[in-house]
Amino acid sequence: MKCYVCKGQMEDATTSDFNDFGNCIIVVRGVPCHKCAECGELAFDLKIDVRVEEIVDTLKESVTAEIAVVQYSPTEIKVVQYAAAVAA
Ligand SMILES: [Zn+2]
Repeated sequence: MKCYVCKGQMEDATTSDFNDFGNCIIVVRGVPCHKCAECGELAFDLKIDVRVEEIVDTLKESVTAEIAVVQYSPTEIKVVQYAAAVAA
């Protein structure tokens, strides 16, 4: 797979996906992606994208914590941590 920005080589990697809904933030960790070795651009497979959206959509209906951290999984929703936002 080639980077669509610089045509560099994309390597398998993982990243975190941040979703800020104003009153709550959902972070999905360990999301599989492809990362460009040259410029650092990230690309996601469509099925991963769809799954992350599904996890976030499910959680935002039920989460009451200000911050929820979820471990990416193709089959289950694993919340690893709930936290309150710290006032600066
Ligand atoms: Zn690149």
